[in-house]
Amino acid sequence: MRHPHEEHSQHYKNGDPFDGKIIKAASLIKAARYTTVLTGAGSSTPSGIPDFRTPGSGLWTRFSPTDYASLTAFRHHPEEFFQWLRPLANLLVQADPNPSHVALSQLEEHGMVRSVITQNIDCLHQKAGSKVVIEVHGTLDTLSCIGCFKQFPSKRYMDAYLDDGTMPKCPHCNRILKPDVVLFGEQLPIKSWLKAKNEIKHCDLMIVAGSSLTVTPVCELPLLALNNQAKLILINLAPTYIDNYAEVLIHGDVSNVLPSIVEEVLRMNSL
Ligand code: ZN
Repeated sequence: MRHPHEEHSQHYKNGDPFDGKIIKAASLIKAARYTTVLTGAGSSTPSGIPDFRTPGSGLWTRFSPTDYASLTAFRHHPEEFFQWLRPLANLLVQADPNPSHVALSQLEEHGMVRSVITQNIDCLHQKAGSKVVIEVHGTLDTLSCIGCFKQFPSKRYMDAYLDDGTMPKCPHCNRILKPDVVLFGEQLPIKSWLKAKNEIKHCDLMIVAGSSLTVTPVCELPLLALNNQAKLILINLAPTYIDNYAEVLIHGDVSNVLPSIVEEVLRMNSL
């Protein structure tokens, strides 16, 4: 008689469109001591949020992100900046987490993921229940005054802004508030960046989910992890510069792949 796990694996392999890679990824996650995850635009596109860096994504036919989503644009033409941001903000506020976000929060709950480093500003990991989320490109959840540096929750300004485009103003010095998202030409928030690098130092397994790894300096994080002898699971629709170094490489949609991996991890746990 065959071992139940072997039987299951055999069964899964036949029906696994990723040719046994789901099982391999699940085994790596189970064996790892410290797993950290990096997510990018590809983990939010299944929630209906377009990658705003992708040309022709529809939303930006009138505006080019590099012209409008820059610090210079914000400082010199805040009205146009907020006009540009409005359709995106509208989408982000209404978006719901997809199965990839839920899968990662389940892994954290089971102690198998320690942190999620994300390039996304949409708070969908938190909405799905993830606790340790490091937002290296900032968040739309707060605003800061570029005059007196006070920080405010976006919530209190969001309705008026989405309704009629009212720009958020600092209640102390009346200057226009800047969303705490990293714009083109801006440095990453130093605290989050240091936290992210610290996670990379500690991890022995890194999962990259839905990032094409084209934006510096975040795209260097998996390389740092590899240099520290960590293993790499890479899930993305398009190829990346680091594909050849991945222990498990899956070119697929994270909202299909991650739930399958979690299902497999949980099944292995119950054996
Ligand atoms: Zn102020």
